[in-house]
Amino acid sequence: MFSALTHLECSRTGERYEADRLQGTSGLGAPLLARYDLEQVAATLTREEIAGRAPTLWRYHELLPVSSADRVVSLGEGMTPLLALPAFGSRVGVPGLLMKDDGLIPTGTFKARGAAVGVSRAAELGATGVAMPTNGNAGAAWALYAARAGVRSLIAMPVDAPFITRTECWVSGAELYLVDGLIGDAGKLVAASVAERKDYQDVSTLKEPYRLEGKKTMAYELVEQLGWRIPDVIVCPAGGGVGIIGIYKALGELQELGWISGELPRLVAVQASGCAPLVRAFQRGAAESEPFADARTVAFGITVPKALGDFLVLDAVYATEGTAVAVTDKELLAAQAELACTEGVFVCPEGAACFAAVGQLREGGWLTGHEQVVALNTGIGTKYPDMVPVDAPVLAKDGHIPVACHRVGWPMVSEATIR
Ligand SMILES: *Cc1c(COP(=O)(O)O)cnc(C)c1O
Repeated sequence: MFSALTHLECSRTGERYEADRLQGTSGLGAPLLARYDLEQVAATLTREEIAGRAPTLWRYHELLPVSSADRVVSLGEGMTPLLALPAFGSRVGVPGLLMKDDGLIPTGTFKARGAAVGVSRAAELGATGVAMPTNGNAGAAWALYAARAGVRSLIAMPVDAPFITRTECWVSGAELYLVDGLIGDAGKLVAASVAERKDYQDVSTLKEPYRLEGKKTMAYELVEQLGWRIPDVIVCPAGGGVGIIGIYKALGELQELGWISGELPRLVAVQASGCAPLVRAFQRGAAESEPFADARTVAFGITVPKALGDFLVLDAVYATEGTAVAVTDKELLAAQAELACTEGVFVCPEGAACFAAVGQLREGGWLTGHEQVVALNTGIGTKYPDMVPVDAPVLAKDGHIPVACHRVGWPMVSEATIR
């Protein structure tokens, strides 16, 4: 048995849908969730057996939807490092802080997980093209994985999306459109294009069931890397929310398999204060979010004013007694610089938001400092080359180095944090 997938389920009503053909959302327009025969998996697979498999996310193939090994489209994604952050952790008062670093994955962001599984499954079920609106990184990942699968891709992104993601789509032969607007505007273009094309699938966030399955592997990996123990808290940036919904789903599956025990980790959804619909909803104790007006943040990947899966993110946060936090662009940029200066890790702004949030939660007392906290870095800083204003002096070839130039760095990182 390569996959234990049995069927799909409406995330609102539990209504059952067939998994053996291309599916979008449920009749209600809600995301569909993949379900597996977990009893069978528990009876036939052990954690020891997984330990002997190749270090990619496909090591969990029984818990993924693709039906056989030869249908897997892979660029080697998964099993990214779980790093200790001794300097940053002790500075913010959470010495047990770890980083799951998805900057080190094909295409440079954790969108690769969703694309690997989503493209594999779409191609297996007969799609000849995939189409999506994106804030950049998802489009880049899906365009590249589609190229590997021999499937066409149509990508629409805001003209302001990180420039390099545009390049990635173009070089991989995607049909690319730049939209003068936000991701929702790009979504309208995609819906209209898909309606006109045979065998193209709309793979917008949570409008097909399998991107989520790829993203959930982050949680399998970090639990396995901790020796099949769960941390106290997991901190995740939330845009469309697939990451955090996937983590919650994966933890539930591991619990049902009997591979983890005890209370689930408290899940923290992090947004930028310039686009924080989920945080606002959480503060009101609401089950769903309201569209966030005038959304704007440097953390482009989490600029999602209203997510289709908002209720699933809020469910995950409430059910685990977690929380939702917003951080300002200034705070997340400071965290980005501090992590680079003190830990040698250049994280993306979305990932940096998590680390700013950890500091904020410790200051406010939500974290006591004794917890083991895993924060997700969802991408590599080099995908945003213009983010850091570099102010190094340009010297003539024979120029002497002026004494004042012994250190060119970020003024917002205090000397005390530099080792
Ligand atoms: C898309 C993205 C996010 C947000 O992920 P969701 O699963 O949509 O919540 C975070 N970080 C980066 C780098 C992204 O590209």
